[in-house]
Amino acid sequence: MPAEAKTTTCPLDCPDACALDVEITDGRVTRVGPDAGSDYTAGFICGKVAGFPRRLYHPERIRHPLRRVGPRGEGGFERISWQEAIDTVAGNLRAIAQRWGGEAILPFHYGGSNGLLTDEFLDHLFFSRLGASRLAKTICALPATEVALGMYGKMPGVAFSDYPHARAIVVWGANPRGSNIHLVPYLKEARRRGAWVALVDPRRTLGEGEIDLHLPVLPGQDLPLALALIHRWREAGQLDREFVAGHADGLDPLLERAAEWPLERAAGTTGVGVEAIAELADRLAESDPALVRCGWGPERNRNGAQAIAAVLSIPSLLGKFGVRGGGYTLSNNGAVKFDRDAIIGRLDWRTRNLNMSQLGRLLCGDLDPPIKALFVYNANPAASVPDQRAVLRGLARDDLFTVVHDQVMTDTARWADIVLPAVTFLEGHDLRAGYGNYMLGGVVPVVRPEGEAISNMQLFSRLGRALGFDDEAFLLSDPELLRRAAAAVSLPGVEVDLELIAAGGQQGYDFDGAPPVQLATSHPLTPDGKIHLTPPVLGAEPYRWLPPDDDWPLALVSPASQRLTYSTFGECSLERLTITLHPDEAAARGLAAGDFVRVLNQRGEVHCRLATSAAMRPGVAAMPKGAWSRSSLNGETSTALCPDDGQVVGGAACFNDARVEVEAL
Ligand code: SF4
Repeated sequence: MPAEAKTTTCPLDCPDACALDVEITDGRVTRVGPDAGSDYTAGFICGKVAGFPRRLYHPERIRHPLRRVGPRGEGGFERISWQEAIDTVAGNLRAIAQRWGGEAILPFHYGGSNGLLTDEFLDHLFFSRLGASRLAKTICALPATEVALGMYGKMPGVAFSDYPHARAIVVWGANPRGSNIHLVPYLKEARRRGAWVALVDPRRTLGEGEIDLHLPVLPGQDLPLALALIHRWREAGQLDREFVAGHADGLDPLLERAAEWPLERAAGTTGVGVEAIAELADRLAESDPALVRCGWGPERNRNGAQAIAAVLSIPSLLGKFGVRGGGYTLSNNGAVKFDRDAIIGRLDWRTRNLNMSQLGRLLCGDLDPPIKALFVYNANPAASVPDQRAVLRGLARDDLFTVVHDQVMTDTARWADIVLPAVTFLEGHDLRAGYGNYMLGGVVPVVRPEGEAISNMQLFSRLGRALGFDDEAFLLSDPELLRRAAAAVSLPGVEVDLELIAAGGQQGYDFDGAPPVQLATSHPLTPDGKIHLTPPVLGAEPYRWLPPDDDWPLALVSPASQRLTYSTFGECSLERLTITLHPDEAAARGLAAGDFVRVLNQRGEVHCRLATSAAMRPGVAAMPKGAWSRSSLNGETSTALCPDDGQVVGGAACFNDARVEVEAL
């Protein structure tokens, strides 16, 4: 049978939302590549998704409902029918809700798919009907989102395609090679046209020919660095006070804190030289247009919200808005409005809101009522939540009824009582709004699901009906849900093309005929339309910097890698975990690349191989986030070393506050 090609959209947690062209031969996916018709996808996708057939047909793919046999956590399961699985899950949830109250049930989910239908859709309808505990999604992006909302509302940011207009660009705490690879060509093009490009990151993640200046800031020190820039601009009379007076408030608290950070003090704290800080300050002040690509690296520590706010204040303080290629980019997903209530109704769900970053505490602590049922989908907390030992202690509880709906046998699924087979994005429907580009894409099945896998929309529909919930949404098919969801989306300046989306196509949108120009065609979406340089979410002591409170010698970062999308692909793409150090740090410990080492602190200990790289700065160690236990010699991974508390805003995870030592094993 000749190969056929089908079009769909990548919904994985990545800013790019690529348009995909999938080749199918004899009913099986034989190639995943870029849709040649998409300008934004531009003829290339990442290796992770190009290799997606490995996940689709992996031996550990879950193809049928399974019930645990034997001791919890040992991975023994037997096949059961869907009917038995639904009866068992529904029966247990009903019994737990009757005995302990609905709040004894905790749904645990995140961004396994970033689609609008796979998370916070029918799942929320189902768990709200049960009166389950809610989940505070703190593991990523919460501080940045809250700060950006408070400062600018969901103001659409500078499109990547407009980066070549800029004369100066700072990429701050983002690694486009690990996630957001479609930014890289635009950075190159900007530089080819004469732009000056700087990178603020503990690691040199962009190459010699791609940036002009690297500021290797120590983890957790982005705030002093940003405040030092602001201090210098004030001293030099470079602040655009006219712009601030006309468009913003909250300047004084920011300037007061910035006054505490002359360059010399900031250099001593951040680990970045005085000259480099001065050069960054001067280039940004003197270049027009200038812009900041703010990533999510600076938020992953106890000063994270304050740091993001200081970084996002830069274009306001320097008056960089109003021209193409000037301003900032964080997340652009706020440009798409999705009226979920039009499909599932308005939820009145006011139960307790539990912090996902403290799952170990929640499962092991003294909650009233205790968590008696954990329902995991779109997530793999055993690999991704801080304080891994506590999480695993919780999953080992014999009185915890655990359900996992996933595509492959994850580290979390191995602890479950019931494991349910989930479709991959090549086998199901979803709707994706890019958070990097200005694109809406349909996600449609290109092949039949493996085995008996179903979408989580169908899972929660089946469970909802089994529990007697009579909402109309539980009766709809996935294609109908996609069609209704697309109809419930509003895009700036354009009607949604329902036919295109339902066929797996992508629709771009723009603002008055072109990507947005901040403060010209896109504006602050705060309630009063002003920019708030000191948003209330920063608390009683805005812009106050707190030093790290652990004294282990190396700061551990656990960033995105080119192999994993958070913990997705861990079954096949990261066979061997490594810790990476600067060669001088390795030599100081008598270690060399390839050595077996233990990475330890008071929380945990990871046994793995050592790698060395001059792209690291001394004083910092890096281990990929989301690694599975199989990649580690002793089963523990980076989250075993990470604290589960410390963030001022919303209790968000502070992965980069981990401090460690590395020793020979
Ligand atoms: S993960 Fe990102 S770069 Fe890779 S295919 Fe998906 S959207 Fe594109």
